[in-house]
Amino acid sequence: MTVPTIPHWIDGQEVASTSGRTSPVFDPALGVQTKQVGLASEAEITLAIASAHAAYPAWRDASLAKRSSVMFAFREILNARKLELAEIITSEHGKVVSDAAGEISRGLEVVEFACGLPQLLKGDFSENVSTGVDVYSIRQPLGVVGIISPFNFPAMVPLWFIPVALMAGNSVVLKPSEKDPSAALWIARALKEAGLPDGVFTVLQGDKLAVDGLLTHPDIAAISFVGSTPIAQYVYETGTKHGKRVQALGGAKNHMLVLPDADLDLVADSAVNAGFGSAGERCMAISVVVAVEPVADALIAKVAERMATLKIGDGRRNCDMGPLVTREHRDKVAGYIEVAEKDGATVVVDGRGINVDGDANGFWLGPTLIDQVPTTSRVYTEEIFGPVLSVVRVGSYDEGLALINDGAFGNGTAIFTNDGGAARRFQNEVEVGMVGINVPIPVPVAYYSFGGFKSSIFGDTKAYGAEGVHFFTRSKTMTSRWLDPSHGGINLGFPQN
Ligand code: NAD
Repeated sequence: MTVPTIPHWIDGQEVASTSGRTSPVFDPALGVQTKQVGLASEAEITLAIASAHAAYPAWRDASLAKRSSVMFAFREILNARKLELAEIITSEHGKVVSDAAGEISRGLEVVEFACGLPQLLKGDFSENVSTGVDVYSIRQPLGVVGIISPFNFPAMVPLWFIPVALMAGNSVVLKPSEKDPSAALWIARALKEAGLPDGVFTVLQGDKLAVDGLLTHPDIAAISFVGSTPIAQYVYETGTKHGKRVQALGGAKNHMLVLPDADLDLVADSAVNAGFGSAGERCMAISVVVAVEPVADALIAKVAERMATLKIGDGRRNCDMGPLVTREHRDKVAGYIEVAEKDGATVVVDGRGINVDGDANGFWLGPTLIDQVPTTSRVYTEEIFGPVLSVVRVGSYDEGLALINDGAFGNGTAIFTNDGGAARRFQNEVEVGMVGINVPIPVPVAYYSFGGFKSSIFGDTKAYGAEGVHFFTRSKTMTSRWLDPSHGGINLGFPQN
């Protein structure tokens, strides 16, 4: 069987890989391979970085007005043709089309934020710090920056970084996930149409070889990575060892703490939306409901009732939840349900073998609810990244908080309560980077910054917002004196006045 091969994007055009190495791309709802992606060779990595490096000086010197006009035009294209990109995402990732459109909308927010970046690129100026001496600072781009993205948000995660990096004057090389690489090419074409000069944005298709190439090449100044924790840690350690600025966002295990006074209907709606949206393949998905007794039984009944109404099937049809990204990933996630059974948990709703509105060969796993999950079980300690929601019962707020703070990850969390004092205590005490108060998926808007704590992030700068601008620029500080007739002559000490 021959399938189309997805190319790189170098120097403003598609470039076919000649490495002879490929990776399959599936349509998860059909369960068949529909394409393959060519994986970069050493020579292609060198070519891609050289092209981005050559394009950098002119883009760095392009006026802010020019850069803003490109970003604004890109925003118009993305907005007008959102559905076209959403359908591409669904065909390779499997998420329902409305959810794919939703991720593009979140990416668009960063594009819109970046259109106003000149405001954040302004430096400081202090007049007369010493007599006749002024000090001022400017922020300048870094050079060629690499972005390495995961499969679960093939448009949104690249768009957390691309608009900010470009507006700051950098060239960008994006290495998308080999599981769903076509969205990156769509973005590349749209940027070209928006007027971005050739070479300023590159798509390098590949696997570990391409990642290692970006991490070690002397012409790559910085790396933004998003993916699983072990790879994030590897990327951070390797990139920094090679002198690069690195931000590496890792995995997650997000808890929702439910206090007895919470509105249980709101909690049940939120748990279902945040647990099963995008088939749980979201780094901000809720994975564990921590129920402070006596609410667990009533809450589980409400959640199970809602789960029974979910329609699972092909994301191009009118469904709530699609398949998982690959057969291998589906089998791995389903394996956790077996682990739960062996570890003595109660499987309340079992997603294995469900009926779907889609092809029988699709990578299906229905929403699954597991009660009484022991906190020693791998179901509790490991990131599952699928439609499996665990319930852990605790006796008090303090017990729930301790559980959350003991976790290895610290990406997102939420508290559900009608007690403002409890919510305020939680926001103060919880060791997690993004906190929702009666909000299940607290992804910050584009003018704040996205990132967690602990093993959910390596590096000290988060994505987008002011921290993103900081990451993609470096500051330069000038001390300046223009001589006037009264200059003070030789003085070997520090100026005092
Ligand atoms: P992944 O770690 O398998 O892959 C991420 C990227 O790393 C891909 O581009 C992949 O090609 C590359 N890669 C894979 N193996 C590699 C290796 N051995 N060496 C070098 N590079 C390698 O992650 P994924 O499965 O694509 O995405 C899901 C993961 O991403 C989950 O753990 C999820 O929590 C995480 N994620 C985190 C955030 C966040 O903001 N913290 C956001 C989205 C996804």
